[in-house]
Amino acid sequence: MRDFLVAGNWKMNGSIAANAELASGIVEGVPQGGGFRLLVCPPFPYLAMVGDILQGSNVALGAQNVSDRESGAFTGETAPSMLKDVGCEFVIVGHSERRALYGETDDAVAAKFMATQSAGMIPILCLGETLEEREAGTTAEVIDRQFDAVVDMAGVSAFEDAVIAYEPVWAIGTGMTATPEQAQDVHKHIRARLAGLDVGLAEKIQILYGGSMKGDNAPGLLGMPDIDGGLIGGASLKASDFLAIAAAAVQS
Ligand code: PEP
Repeated sequence: MRDFLVAGNWKMNGSIAANAELASGIVEGVPQGGGFRLLVCPPFPYLAMVGDILQGSNVALGAQNVSDRESGAFTGETAPSMLKDVGCEFVIVGHSERRALYGETDDAVAAKFMATQSAGMIPILCLGETLEEREAGTTAEVIDRQFDAVVDMAGVSAFEDAVIAYEPVWAIGTGMTATPEQAQDVHKHIRARLAGLDVGLAEKIQILYGGSMKGDNAPGLLGMPDIDGGLIGGASLKASDFLAIAAAAVQS
């Protein structure tokens, strides 16, 4: 039985005051019960501050991006060791906004995945198709290409310490959630692809769903056999909304 992971991607939002309030609200409202973990990924400038607020709670700290380099003349970049230094346990890699808006290729994502692990953190590898790709019937092909790029560079054993997030691009920030059945189909496909390489890892790995997950649709999604949590954008910006999803993870 895999635990649920409910992760909030705060994206480029907030301020010192707003993010302190959000983090405190989440810590204070963590549901009773087991079988789940919460994670928040604030913007870089607030990582240390939010990390202090999370101390001693069941809420982990993560980053939204990372450099694949360790140190040196890379203006504007943030090294994996720096994220580890401020208390990050997880890093989101290959979010569709990074791929689409900042030109991150499958290989660049794979390099960030490896750099994250080299610093002792867990990458959350985002995979997902656009609406055009889904309508063209190429969802599995796109997911396989994105996944295989990481397997080819990092090796399958790297998935021992990794999380995968299936995030259909057409569902991110649009209010258009994949149905539980649509999401389950792709999650099952991803797990089967990993099982083709290592059955034990496939059974163990957490595969999160991301794309307009909210308190009301979370129970249906989290009730599917291959969905092990959520990567949440919009609904992670208000403690009560995020905690409603967390509550669904406890009950599922
Ligand atoms: C995301 O950006 O990872 C995401 C899932 O966003 P939203 O929940 O707003 O669709």
